[in-house]
Amino acid sequence: MEQLPFYSGGLRFSCTRCSACCRYESGYVFLSREDLDILAAALDMAGGDFVKTWCRWVPLGGGTEYLSLKEKLNDDCIFWKDGCTVYRSRPLQCRTFPFWDSVVVSAEAWESAGRGCPGMGRGELRGMAYIEGCLRARASQPPLARKAERPEL
Ligand code: SF4
Repeated sequence: MEQLPFYSGGLRFSCTRCSACCRYESGYVFLSREDLDILAAALDMAGGDFVKTWCRWVPLGGGTEYLSLKEKLNDDCIFWKDGCTVYRSRPLQCRTFPFWDSVVVSAEAWESAGRGCPGMGRGELRGMAYIEGCLRARASQPPLARKAERPEL
């Protein structure tokens, strides 16, 4: 018999908008084609201009680079200014947090991620259907990728 995931009874999460996940530490906010289209439209820009202005290509091995938002010099997200300035158009990665494969893979991973996020483990109960909808959405909208311009040494 197939074992149900640990989150089969749902998981509690309500974002407190503390911004801990958008600031202070370097990280990547990867963009899918859909994310790029939505953000570029929100800022009334062509997709290519949006990429040149707000994005960077991140080499993650295998000769492939992935499209991510830039960060400020202090490691804040490039769109953070007294809160998320593109909140209504924010990328899927942000919209689905913390219901990512790497976080809901186990109770331990969920607890570990929750140490950095005061919204996890409290607030609204998100059912299994919601959680798996987030996982499916992320699987169906992968980050934009290209062949690395400079192969790793
Ligand atoms: S760390 Fe958690 S509570 Fe704080 S802004 Fe991010 S998702 Fe919301």
